[in-house]
Amino acid sequence: MDLAFSPADEEFRTEVREWLHARVPREPLPSLETAEGFAAHRAWEAELAAEGWSVVDWPAEYGGRDAGLLRWLLFEEEYWAAGAPGRVGQNGIHLLAPTLFAHGTGEQRARVLPPMASGEVIWAQAWSEPEAGSDLASLRARAVRTDGGWLLSGQKTWSSRAAFADRAFGLFRSDPDTAKPHQGLTYLMFDLRAPGVTVRPIARLDGKPAFAELFLDEVFVPDEDVIGEPGQGWRIAMATAGDERGLMLRSPGRFLAAARRLEGLWRERGGPVSERDRVADALMGARAYQLFTYAAASRFIDGETVGPESSLNKVFWSELDIALHETALDLLGPEGEPADTDWAERYVFALAGPIYAGTNEIQRDIIAERLLGLPKGRR
Ligand SMILES: Cc1cc2nc3c(=O)[nH]c(=O)nc-3n(C[C@H](O)[C@H](O)[C@H](O)COP(=O)(O)OP(=O)(O)OC[C@H]3O[C@@H](n4cnc5c(N)ncnc54)[C@H](O)[C@@H]3O)c2cc1C
Repeated sequence: MDLAFSPADEEFRTEVREWLHARVPREPLPSLETAEGFAAHRAWEAELAAEGWSVVDWPAEYGGRDAGLLRWLLFEEEYWAAGAPGRVGQNGIHLLAPTLFAHGTGEQRARVLPPMASGEVIWAQAWSEPEAGSDLASLRARAVRTDGGWLLSGQKTWSSRAAFADRAFGLFRSDPDTAKPHQGLTYLMFDLRAPGVTVRPIARLDGKPAFAELFLDEVFVPDEDVIGEPGQGWRIAMATAGDERGLMLRSPGRFLAAARRLEGLWRERGGPVSERDRVADALMGARAYQLFTYAAASRFIDGETVGPESSLNKVFWSELDIALHETALDLLGPEGEPADTDWAERYVFALAGPIYAGTNEIQRDIIAERLLGLPKGRR
């Protein structure tokens, strides 16, 4: 693998840096887990999209720059280094869009992707249910056939940002009589403001409504909003889960920027020797994750898939994120305690890393069984 970037790649990096330098809001936007912050972040998505920066790797016809995976990684490094706002559109951009590129129809891509790129339509992921998280295949929400479409009923939970989002994508049981639980599932998109949908916000540790429960009562979804073949939802969803854990959800740029901020904080506090190793570990971890991701991206570009290695990624970034933020809070002492400080808010979010996108316990099982060839655990 060649780690040197071409002059054209470096030019791209400079263009991104200059644009961000001119446009990133000087004052941080309000938290995107509040109505006011959500609106401000949506407006920022539109500003990014106006020049094709919201989805640089997508084809231009859907609002991107056709920049490819490698330049997406460069973009992300510059984005987070510039202290740019969190991405309120990420569930759609990193989970639904890859699914539509792989399994959607041309009509669905043309209809769904441009308003997603511009932030006009923000998507929520509606997979989890009260009794179906790690064991997703045990989900019970139903899709029942009706004239021209489906009627959705049941309950979904932990749907990030669904309190303010516009639409959602999720899995529903369309055939209750199959031999195995992961058969007979259908992947559908639906409107969060459609008749029959009740969205009940759930407060996070700091009180902000970062998630919601969704109650669905015979919500009509037209056939054009089914992704792939009815009954084939599991296969499609598993491709999405790979994207979620693997390359796209947490780009290394985010951790590199956080580790550098930590280093800055440590220096500002007089570089206490007692914390030196933890700061160095955070910097090395972020760099290691960057290199691992470059290696995975090169394999992707060469036509290979990432596979169960994405579970390694997931465990690594989630643990790095917590360690890094704990070190920052230790450096800050009582100053870091109020829930609204930047470091504290990011710490609260980091704590959830080992849970969402598939818990780390389950990821470790995947690593043990599929990468290390160890015997199956007790399940
Ligand atoms: C910040 C955050 C955002 C989220 N956003 C979304 C979202 O947008 N959309 C959505 O659909 N969901 C979302 N979720 C839900 C998330 O996907 C689930 O919480 C997760 O899949 C775990 O499921 P669960 O909560 O039902 O826990 P459970 O599955 O009940 O697990 C509880 C504990 O038991 C362990 N465990 C369970 N089964 C096994 C096993 N077989 N072997 C070993 N250990 C096991 C788990 O690892 C975990 O530690 C989000 C969660 C968080 C924290």
